[in-house]
Amino acid sequence: MKKRALLTGVTGQDGAYLCALLLEKGYDVYGIVRRSSHGGIDDHRMRWLGIHDRVKLIDGNLLDLSAMIRTVQDVKPDEIYNLAAQSFVAASWNQPILTGEVTGIGVLNLLEALRIAAPEARFYQASSSEMFGKIQEESQSEKTPFYPRSPYAVAKLFGHWSTVNYRESFGLHTSSGILFNHESPLRGREFVTRKVTDSVARIKLGMEKELRLGNIDAKRDWGHARDYVRAMWLMLQQDKGDDYVVATGRTTTVRRMCEIAFEHVNLKFDDHVVIDKAFFRPAEVDILLGNPAKAKAKLGWQAEVGLEAMICEMVDADLARLKAK
Ligand code: NDP
Ligand code: GDP
Repeated sequence: MKKRALLTGVTGQDGAYLCALLLEKGYDVYGIVRRSSHGGIDDHRMRWLGIHDRVKLIDGNLLDLSAMIRTVQDVKPDEIYNLAAQSFVAASWNQPILTGEVTGIGVLNLLEALRIAAPEARFYQASSSEMFGKIQEESQSEKTPFYPRSPYAVAKLFGHWSTVNYRESFGLHTSSGILFNHESPLRGREFVTRKVTDSVARIKLGMEKELRLGNIDAKRDWGHARDYVRAMWLMLQQDKGDDYVVATGRTTTVRRMCEIAFEHVNLKFDDHVVIDKAFFRPAEVDILLGNPAKAKAKLGWQAEVGLEAMICEMVDADLARLKAK
């Protein structure tokens, strides 16, 4: 019997890469897609990876508990991956209630569906390094106290503790992956890496002149999404559910990440970047640096793609996309 996996957030960056990984491993893959008027273009990331006709899409919204229960009952998954979220930190100050509902309560909806309709299934929750926020330790591990700094991070913390609580209360196989920032050519253009690589490609092709950014002194531990979805899968192959930090263990400023992108196409950061107050946030997470020792020891996982290679891959993909247009 083929294993069955059910994913939320299947139209997002991680959803596409995780679907590709699970299909490669021989799973039947089901993805929950929220209805919108953009039907037909939702699967552009899966198309990019050439898997759009191999994932079974099911209409549903994380906010609709009854739909989640029915879907879990119908699919009878062996593994459930909850990747859906209002995932953009900056937007979470403009839509704090929606973020709380989708990114926080949405997790509980799916955990309830698991508890009611498939208690034997294994569950993955997409937690975030943003939960560390105003960092309490120089290098953040599973034991580092949290200090969220945005409505997004507060909601993720609710989802994280709900996942831990359902494991401890009901003996469910639930895991929380505390993933640090991970990017790829399929990253949304609102996030800083993709904003930079798309803009650098446009500037190189003479379509634009400047790139407006906010706090370029912020530091992030950036890895590649393709590496990080492998960690998600590995978590659900363990005998018991647990929490894991997934990171590279290296931190870099937004400025340096941006310089790498410009240097790749022989342009200069200083000639094009303009600092714009509009992109500063009400509260900032100044620095994140993950300690992935537990993931390495228990899952045998480590990041394979470095920042330079990833940013160059992203710039090249954006150049190719723009030239194709
Ligand atoms: P994306 O923003 O690319 O994808 C988010 C997904 O959630 C989309 O498929 C979106 O659907 C879906 N979604 C949003 N609201 C709902 C809803 N109400 N019901 C059902 N689906 C919904 O995120 P990523 O792929 O980058 O990230 C995946 C998960 O990992 C997210 O939970 C994110 O918060 C978390 N995370 C990501 C990190 C990163 O660096 N990428 C770091 C740490 C955690 P639609 O296409 O319709 O908008
Ligand atoms: P986040 O870590 O999940 O918030 O991922 P982002 O890619 O959105 O932001 C990473 C860091 O880049 C944050 O510290 C932002 O403040 C900083 N940053 C600086 N300029 C920008 C910008 O123009 N857009 C975005 N998204 N982030 C920016």
